[in-house]
Amino acid sequence: MSTSPVMVDIRGVHKSFGPHEVLRGIDLQVRAGEVTVVIGPSGSGKSTLLRAINHLEKLSRGSVSIDGALVGYRRRGNKLYELKEREILRRRTRIGFVFQNFNLFPHLTVLQNITEAPVSALRRPRTEAKERAEALLDRVGLADKADAYPRQLSGGQQQRVAIARALALDPQVLLFDEPTSALDPELVGEVLDVIKDVARAGTTMIVVTHEIGFAREIADTVVFMDDGVIVEQGPPGDVLDHPRQERTKAFLSKVL
Ligand code: ADP
Ligand code: MG
Repeated sequence: MSTSPVMVDIRGVHKSFGPHEVLRGIDLQVRAGEVTVVIGPSGSGKSTLLRAINHLEKLSRGSVSIDGALVGYRRRGNKLYELKEREILRRRTRIGFVFQNFNLFPHLTVLQNITEAPVSALRRPRTEAKERAEALLDRVGLADKADAYPRQLSGGQQQRVAIARALALDPQVLLFDEPTSALDPELVGEVLDVIKDVARAGTTMIVVTHEIGFAREIADTVVFMDDGVIVEQGPPGDVLDHPRQERTKAFLSKVL
């Protein structure tokens, strides 16, 4: 059992859209340097949970803190007050987010995509940001694509740029929302390899994916979500190979 400090602390999180309660009391802790993989059927609330961590969704109840600091709120007494947008944006720079559809800026080159946030949000000197971006591009195997535009790249290459862009902010935690599900099958492997490399380097990560083999390889903890709750969680060998809950068994029998 790991004893590294808790990096992501999700407590009693509820989220409703109108009458529809999409997250119904989520408690989850992710320790520094560990990889948590979230699996579950479509509509179970996985994306909403990631978005809640980043405060892209306001919580209906509960709290999320990263390294001990709340992301979207400040606490006074036992009440929470939402922070101003600027402060939320600042705190959010410490949380990397890799989306299903890459979300690169189409009008910027690959290099500019990576240097944009470090320069504008973190006020890093441009030359320093550029050097860092070049090193990251090398790390994801795209050193020769610095001056290309996103549309000139394959989906797999675009997603690798998106990962480099997220890493450029030295995030305390990196969130991935189905990073390979928009890719042609032959491009999935190259992206999973990069994510594995990032995991091995000790980055704290939460990864939503349907790639069960990949989950088995990289996860310290697998979380199975259904209908807005965590049904079961534990080491991959338990949850994936010896699930205890019927709902987990039923889901795995469909995706394996
Ligand atoms: P998953 O990622 O597990 O497929 P989501 O978190 O995307 O699930 O969605 C969970 C549920 O929340 C779905 O029923 C979805 O329709 C609903 N939902 C998500 N975002 C919104 C929104 N902005 N407004 C209303 N309903 C939403
Ligand atoms: Mg989703």
